[in-house]
Amino acid sequence: MPMRAQLWLIFLAPVVVLAGLFALGLTIPVPVLGRDYVVRIQLPEPGAPVDLPTIYGPDDRSRPLVVIDPGHGGKDPGASGFGFKEKDVVLGLALALRDRLVEQGGIRVALTREDDRFLVLGERPEIARRMGADLFISLHADSAGEVEGVRGASIYTLSDQASSEAAARFAERENAADRVNGVVIADQSDSVGTILIELAQRRVQETSSEFSGLIVREGADSLNFHPQARRSASLAVLRAPDVPAVLFESGFITNPDEARRLTSEEGKTAFADSMAQAIRVFLARQSRP
Ligand code: ZN
Repeated sequence: MPMRAQLWLIFLAPVVVLAGLFALGLTIPVPVLGRDYVVRIQLPEPGAPVDLPTIYGPDDRSRPLVVIDPGHGGKDPGASGFGFKEKDVVLGLALALRDRLVEQGGIRVALTREDDRFLVLGERPEIARRMGADLFISLHADSAGEVEGVRGASIYTLSDQASSEAAARFAERENAADRVNGVVIADQSDSVGTILIELAQRRVQETSSEFSGLIVREGADSLNFHPQARRSASLAVLRAPDVPAVLFESGFITNPDEARRLTSEEGKTAFADSMAQAIRVFLARQSRP
């Protein structure tokens, strides 16, 4: 062996041994102030299959399915104020709405989370898509920071610009090998795929906006709306291209009166009644030929 090769071997040997240990998953313990520990955090892999939630209501796939998404959860509490946490407030509202819908019958209901767990944002609309939901409602509660007296619910739908950006990204991600609103977009060029998704999404946006109007109409007597109740924004959770979706900001938990109302039986019932009614009217309109 030439001298030069031998020298290389001497330099490379420790590197190869370390790489081998690393590949085998072994680590060399480094004592830190006498302690020696490893913290492992289990993070959901992006795009990894998500366990689909339980469906409540009739065991009949021809019945419409509503997916309710209580925002935040687990290590992400959302907004907070006066001892209230957004993740708890919205879970309470979601459970009340689920119970109301199931009690009235005819509609299938699922929740993206039924307890205090963390979900990655992108998983939420993905659950609705994979379940073939007819409607997706993400529930949140707002914070006004230090500003006092701010109150009222508002409803967000996806803004035009955001939805067309989302269409492009969706087309890219799905690599033109998916089906959106029954349109097979495989074997299409990327731009054609994006256009088809945009068309499907425009229709979904119109129906989402129609639903937003129904929430305001049905809640007029019993819910407190913000003066500017209907808004649009670029929200990741609304970006499923083929499921009508709204984000309902139920009120400001930084307003103590509103926080108490949203967590009271009376407040939850008022929310569940009017939201359930808006859902019923919406689904009845959608099922019309
Ligand atoms: Zn939120």
